[in-house]
Amino acid sequence: KQRRFSVFAMAADESKREVPLKDYRNIGIMAHIDAGKTTTTERVLYYTGRNYKIGEVHEGTATMDWMEQEQERGITITSAATTTFWKNHRINIIDTPGHVDFMLEVERALRVLDGAICLFDSVAGVEPQSETVWRQADKYGVPRICFVNKMDRLGANFFRTRDMIVTNLGAKPLVIQLPVGAEDNFRGELAEEYRAQMIETIVELDDQAMESYLEGVEPDEETIKKLIRKGTIGISFVPVLCGSAFKNKGVQPLLDAVMDYLPSPVELPQMKGTDPENPEVTIERKASDDEPFSGLAFKIMTDPFVGSLTFVRVYSGKLSAGSYVLNANKGKKERIGRLLEMHANSREDVKVPLAGDIVALAGLKDTITGETLSDPDHPVVLERMDFPDPVIKVA
Ligand code: GDP
Repeated sequence: KQRRFSVFAMAADESKREVPLKDYRNIGIMAHIDAGKTTTTERVLYYTGRNYKIGEVHEGTATMDWMEQEQERGITITSAATTTFWKNHRINIIDTPGHVDFMLEVERALRVLDGAICLFDSVAGVEPQSETVWRQADKYGVPRICFVNKMDRLGANFFRTRDMIVTNLGAKPLVIQLPVGAEDNFRGELAEEYRAQMIETIVELDDQAMESYLEGVEPDEETIKKLIRKGTIGISFVPVLCGSAFKNKGVQPLLDAVMDYLPSPVELPQMKGTDPENPEVTIERKASDDEPFSGLAFKIMTDPFVGSLTFVRVYSGKLSAGSYVLNANKGKKERIGRLLEMHANSREDVKVPLAGDIVALAGLKDTITGETLSDPDHPVVLERMDFPDPVIKVA
């Protein structure tokens, strides 16, 4: 903590990682209006925030006010990012609007996600708006896990929702947890027969695991997690869990699932871009602090205290206050002023954002959402990641 404010700290120390990049998760929560995104986000922040203590009530914080405002309006219209921590993993939650009226905003958010939680209402199942957002997520190859929420409701139907994931979304569900009990007495569990199904599905992704499996040896827990992550990257399948955010059921397993089943930036395909001077030249940027800086601006917000804030996803290299970056789309240099990191109930000044980070830059002049910022000596316009084709097709 202290290093951030120490004037004497060396530049190199400033950029030491608190959390290794393999333990980063940049995620969004996609949901149909009313499926419970606000409730789930609040619970997630409650369980993960390092400033939050279980059992304490936090009221009047900036985040809560903002959420209440959103709730009052009934639709989620703002997009920002919140940094939080779970079991030594750094989880950046990028707000993904759920309303199709904000499709452009949805696209911009989806573009910078490494993974997403798709939330469904267990009574309504997969609703039309979820289908629209799902297709957008397909376009950007966003790895996903599904959370069937509101399992406490009368008429909740986990299996119907699972079947709709197949018929309406064309995806292959991988049941990780299924409901035991109903309504108030519900809990999520992985029954033996589903565990067998799950293992049979995931060993298809790895010859060695398959060979061992055929000889009667099941993969160990770490291998299982690794194979599931591999499957989500190729969108070979989508892990499905269930719970009730409202009743605080299944939220912690959901956070574990983010950590276990969604990929870190280092597991994803490399970010590809082009040379702005020479658009035929393809450039790759590895998710690493040692690469030249590159990042994507995905949201501009006006903050009552700081003014205009440009939210940037850093893909490679690092940034520092006082330096210049190139807006590679416009060929204009921008000076980096104040750098901020948003937490659930606070904002922190950050000296040197690193690869994988989400940072809010104050005072950029020419940059709009969707544009690439890069090291002026190594210009790049970021395009996309090349995701592998699904290995397992829906039967
Ligand atoms: P959003 O529109 O997706 O952000 O949904 P909200 O989180 O605002 O939830 C919509 C409504 O569903 C609210 O009245 C919530 O209290 C309720 N809700 C959310 N999660 C659950 C749940 O797990 N069970 C039940 N019964 N209601 C829920």
